Amino acid sequence: MTDTERVVNFAAGPAALPVPVLEQVRRDLISLPGLGVSPLEISHRSPWFRDVLDEAVKDLVELLGVPDTHRIVFCPGGATQQFSMAPLNLLRGSGLTAEYLVTGAWGAKAVREAGKEGNVSIVWTGAEDGFARVPGDYEWEASPDAAYLHVTANETIEGVEWPELPSAPCGVPLVADVSSDFLSRPVDIARVGLMYAGAQKNAGPAGVTVVIVREDLLDRAPPGLPAMLDYRTFVEHDSLYNTPPVFAIYVVMLVSRWLRDEVGGLAEQEERNRAKAGLLYDAIDASDGFYTGHAKPGSRSLMNVTFRLPTAELDSRFVADAASQGLVELKGHRSVGGIRASIYNAMPLKGVEALTELMRVFAASH
Ligand SMILES: *Cc1c(COP(=O)(O)O)cnc(C)c1O
Repeated sequence: MTDTERVVNFAAGPAALPVPVLEQVRRDLISLPGLGVSPLEISHRSPWFRDVLDEAVKDLVELLGVPDTHRIVFCPGGATQQFSMAPLNLLRGSGLTAEYLVTGAWGAKAVREAGKEGNVSIVWTGAEDGFARVPGDYEWEASPDAAYLHVTANETIEGVEWPELPSAPCGVPLVADVSSDFLSRPVDIARVGLMYAGAQKNAGPAGVTVVIVREDLLDRAPPGLPAMLDYRTFVEHDSLYNTPPVFAIYVVMLVSRWLRDEVGGLAEQEERNRAKAGLLYDAIDASDGFYTGHAKPGSRSLMNVTFRLPTAELDSRFVADAASQGLVELKGHRSVGGIRASIYNAMPLKGVEALTELMRVFAASH
């Protein structure tokens, strides 16, 4: 491989970014046109960054159809910090209970953090069957007077995704961790009270978390929260209370611009994602049991496709064979084993086609 040749990167996160975005970053990296500094060096108070921030918000509003009841802010600390920040703002001191639908490892972590801030209740968990599916409508019931109902839209490790975000009871805010399927499909934001996405899966580099919050919920925060853990700080200061991760937000802006201008929006992106995931699930289903999918049909993720081969030894051999062909980062998470192919927005169809071809050849020869 030459110094600039790229592999097909199936990493779960940090994950592949669109090449046109990387090319723009490269053009700007030594010097932004007319400014003489790079995005890594420029002041967060500069007019350039003000424009970047404004465009990032504007593009996300447009892509997601965010209604004017909601605000978009950029927070540090990853999605993991949101596991605490959401209950700090919406649960602490309320005397209410926060309810959680747990469909994988990230949801389980979110519950643990929320339990430090108040009462939590798990309304459904898929732990017993190794987190292989989301529940059916009649398998769970949320309380109409909970502080909020939390859901993980896509469980990145298990490859389990809600086909559509569930509904919270009337008056209960739905809180959604959308880290690994943010911007992969249209979402009805009006139904969501709070949603958050660590950028490094599908929206940019690590270092920033996109948070969309319904403005009326801001008043629920108890007094005395640390400024950097209070959503109001970010809303009132347009994400510029302290030095934000300038570079990461700049890349999120470029990714949003790419989705708007080159992909043509989230409905188009969803179609592409369905086509890519469809190829892989078809390859699994057509393998006569050589490949076994982890997620049950109906809960299969469009972003993280998890499966295993007949033995762990064959799993390892498959990963090695793939790597020798430039298809990398296919080893499943240690808690699930097997293979995980993360195929976010930036994964080209050709990359998935190369993987399904390898699956066919590998199954035939083993
Ligand atoms: C990666 C991930 C997280 C954790 O993100 P960090 O940015 O590492 O804190 C949380 N939830 C989901 C669904 C994820 O995919």
